[in-house]
Amino acid sequence: MDWNDTPAQAAFRDEVRAFVAERLPKRYQRDAEGFPSRNDWLEDRKSGDPERQAADAEWSAALRDKGWLAPHWPKEYGGAGMGPSEQFVFNMEMTEAEVPTAKAAPQVPGLALLGPTLMIHGTEEQKQQHIPKILSGEVFWAQGYSEPGAGSDLASLSTRATRDGDDYVVNGQKIWTSGAQFADWIFALVRTDPDAPKHRGISFLMMDATTPGITVRPLISMADEHHLNETFFDNVRVPVANRIGEENRGWYVGMTLLDFERSNITAAVAARRDIRRLIERATNAEASKSRLASLPSLRDQVADRYIESEVMFNFSLRIISIQERGMVPNYEASVSKLFGSELSQRVALTGTKVFGLYSNVWEPDSPHAAIRSMPLHNMVNRIPATIAAGSSEIQRSIIATRGLGLPRG
Ligand SMILES: Cc1cc2nc3c(=O)[nH]c(=O)nc-3n(C[C@H](O)[C@H](O)[C@H](O)COP(=O)(O)OP(=O)(O)OC[C@H]3O[C@@H](n4cnc5c(N)ncnc54)[C@H](O)[C@@H]3O)c2cc1C
Repeated sequence: MDWNDTPAQAAFRDEVRAFVAERLPKRYQRDAEGFPSRNDWLEDRKSGDPERQAADAEWSAALRDKGWLAPHWPKEYGGAGMGPSEQFVFNMEMTEAEVPTAKAAPQVPGLALLGPTLMIHGTEEQKQQHIPKILSGEVFWAQGYSEPGAGSDLASLSTRATRDGDDYVVNGQKIWTSGAQFADWIFALVRTDPDAPKHRGISFLMMDATTPGITVRPLISMADEHHLNETFFDNVRVPVANRIGEENRGWYVGMTLLDFERSNITAAVAARRDIRRLIERATNAEASKSRLASLPSLRDQVADRYIESEVMFNFSLRIISIQERGMVPNYEASVSKLFGSELSQRVALTGTKVFGLYSNVWEPDSPHAAIRSMPLHNMVNRIPATIAAGSSEIQRSIIATRGLGLPRG
């Protein structure tokens, strides 16, 4: 197999690199030592600070000019209409450059999930009302699927929507609603027929987050960050016109995906880049803090992580070659999700071991911090990677049954 770029891919890769070099605002550029900016593009948008908002506007406009806010959306909806292989190159280059992209929450639910769902199942009126505002970033969405009693087994959800005239009345609770504190609207799966088999009694609703009866409470992570929330619904009236698709068919509406590249190339690039940065810092600028010279076992671990990151690249390339041939990756996508998420945790752990006690310093700007505390922050922040979007156990079950043909437990 020849993994080199075709001439078209090479030209597109150059185009993305030139775009980043020309258009990325100073606020989001790497510093003199090659560390990524810690400024958050989307938080800047909601900050109320004119300087920060100007940087956001500049970067949003640059991406919008190219249709690169939504690379996978069809052109007729304002996207770039990229196929899987172009998305692969695009995601690879943007991750390599460590620039903010619309892959960051709270942009994801609208761009990755709701937009494509509306394109396929929405009415003309729903499309016109919501799609342009998702694309412009004017309206942020939150995804209300998980509940305290329904995560991996999502179809067990019990948030209830009862029909009352032209409205549904919604009662219940969602959990882990990422970015709900920024969200202007929430889309949710709700139970409209409690007597039907569990996948068949669910509907898909869009709710204005300011509707009376909706309460969002923060869940602070162990990194002391606020991404996640609990969302409560207490007699929330939602117009029936805000339902996407037929009543009780919401499960199938909610499972819609566009032609995404599913290679998880971002995990492969991030792992390779973190290892490269670890080696570079541990052997040069921060060699005095590193234990690489004194502990041979650590050198072995770094070598193992390097090999694993190359393996991850090959998983990603395999998936993209499946998609390029017009086929849908199945258990292969689970292999890549499982391996990539666990690898990100192993890379972070190895980084902390290399710098020993220096790795315990949480404050990135402390002179005692190692690699600006990145290994430690990554260790804490990547714990959810093996839970979100399908836990490792669920991925292993898919690989075992669909991939290897093993019997179900
Ligand atoms: C960072 C993050 C962001 C998230 N954002 C959102 C969001 O915006 N909106 C939203 O709706 N949800 C969101 N989620 C929720 C996410 O979808 C769920 O956490 C996930 O589906 C797992 O469900 P759960 O947490 O209820 O765990 P459970 O399903 O209860 O699982 C608990 C444990 O049991 C294991 N397990 C469960 N079932 C099986 C099985 N059949 N076989 C073997 N093992 C099993 C799991 O692997 C896990 O280890 C987010 C989660 C995280 C971590």
